[in-house]
Amino acid sequence: MKLGVFGGTFDPIHHGHLVIALAAVEQLSLDRVVFVPAKRSPLKSDAPVAGEADRLAMLERAIAGEPRFECSRAELEGNAPSYTVDTLEALSAKGTLFLILGGDAVRDLDRWKDPERIRRLATIVVARRPGSEATAGEFVLLDTPLMDVSSRDLRARAARGRSLRYLVPDSVWRYIKDRDLYKVTASTAS
Ligand code: ATP
Repeated sequence: MKLGVFGGTFDPIHHGHLVIALAAVEQLSLDRVVFVPAKRSPLKSDAPVAGEADRLAMLERAIAGEPRFECSRAELEGNAPSYTVDTLEALSAKGTLFLILGGDAVRDLDRWKDPERIRRLATIVVARRPGSEATAGEFVLLDTPLMDVSSRDLRARAARGRSLRYLVPDSVWRYIKDRDLYKVTASTAS
């Protein structure tokens, strides 16, 4: 089985994520993509704004209806921070792994835990991202339109009372709206 692995904080999941996951399925003939929400990113200074249960619920809503997408709670379980290398290790028995990263994430890869082992465990698959320079290295480049959307920008928009409709799946926007998830707080106000 060919398995895409797509980690992130998904705070919230948006169409940029979904477009690149589907591009990876099509371009590499993947059987599935596993979305792996993180407790928090070791390299991001801010903790996620939405709680784990809400981020997971939005992810589940976003991927409902696409049988090739699934999500894993592996990194949300337990208290210890989890690392991509451990997630890949755990999934490696399931098949051949393809780690899906945006252009900003691949630029940081050498600062992650055990990047060499990550490269041995999975083929790196990269979606270019506006604002991130092309990097050198061995990876498969995805053929996708550049998607200039980020969760940070979406949180800021929602905090200003702007709609996220058409930027995230309708089911995700409804979920955010019903719970006022990104109403202004200290971390989204700036
Ligand atoms: P934030 O703005 O909060 O930092 P984000 O939009 O970067 O969040 P993450 O959940 O941190 O979203 O991203 C998970 C993965 O998806 C990362 O590898 C990231 O590079 C990639 N990614 C997210 N948005 C895009 C995009 N618009 N184009 C390409 N890759 C993306």
